[in-house]
Amino acid sequence: MTQRFVVIGNPVAHSKSPDIHRMFAEQTGLDIEYTTLLAPLDGFAEAVRAFRDSGGSGANVTVPFKEQAFELGKRHTARARAAGAVNTLIFNSNRIMGDNTDGAGLVQDLKGNLEFPVKGKRVLLVGAGGAARGVLLSLLDEVPASVTIVNRTVDKARQLAREFSSIAAFVIADPALQVKGGRPPQLPLIGGGFDDIRGREYDLVINATSTGLSGEELPLENTTFAQNGLAYDMMYGRETPFMQLAASTGVRTADGLGMLVEQAAESFHVWLGVKPETATVLEQLRRT
Ligand code: NDP
Repeated sequence: MTQRFVVIGNPVAHSKSPDIHRMFAEQTGLDIEYTTLLAPLDGFAEAVRAFRDSGGSGANVTVPFKEQAFELGKRHTARARAAGAVNTLIFNSNRIMGDNTDGAGLVQDLKGNLEFPVKGKRVLLVGAGGAARGVLLSLLDEVPASVTIVNRTVDKARQLAREFSSIAAFVIADPALQVKGGRPPQLPLIGGGFDDIRGREYDLVINATSTGLSGEELPLENTTFAQNGLAYDMMYGRETPFMQLAASTGVRTADGLGMLVEQAAESFHVWLGVKPETATVLEQLRRT
């Protein structure tokens, strides 16, 4: 029997998810149907329940409903709890379960497609909205050397760093630095504003702001980007001012299309127990 999935959002017609999941289905031979579902801004929960009651098996959730999807879930994975947002709903008999695959998608894109592991890197996460929160746990899990969060509204960056500080405290930054018999060194996790990072350099700079959509520039310096580093924009489909600035310094750049494909592959795996191959799907999307 065909299993049915949707991506729910508003707007949602532009979503690439149906194409991605169609390619996954062809590749794995699984019988699924995946379409878009436009939910009214005040009718998200009703739209989800109606789809589930009509026999739907699961759903992806996109802007602006990820926080509402978290509220709707009766149970959450640890990564969804950390994110406070859900992009993957699993319908389990009468229960709606919530997961978040964005962070896993980003890390898999960095490690697998871009061959740029986060381990040991000085990470600068620009932005403190839903996308930044959604990837923070996965980034910390990779044991970077440090994570700095900067945001236009400085308090939001500080708050995010505080919220994740107990998790960072369990990440041992570099066991080689441990003094015999002393406490293991903790991973530095700092939140602040753009003024706080003047003159500092980072190996991995991730743009998790929505400035790619508006075309606005971020107050970053040329010196923010370490040579041999990577500037990653979660936005895809256009060259953003962030990517232009990074490219002008000679640093390698990447957009968020790989993250989109990898988070979709992780959702596919959560629903169907099969991990699709992503490189050819990404290649095909880049060609269209
Ligand atoms: P939110 O609205 O939750 O957060 C927006 C963030 O951008 C805030 O930190 C905000 O700062 C900052 N911002 C907005 N305008 C400016 C500006 N002019 N200067 C500096 N900072 C600014 O959005 P999301 O976090 O949900 O999404 C962010 C981006 O991530 C989007 O472009 C989205 O497309 C992308 N994304 C990509 C995914 C993928 O799979 N590739 C997955 C998820 C998201 P402040 O707090 O001060 O307002």
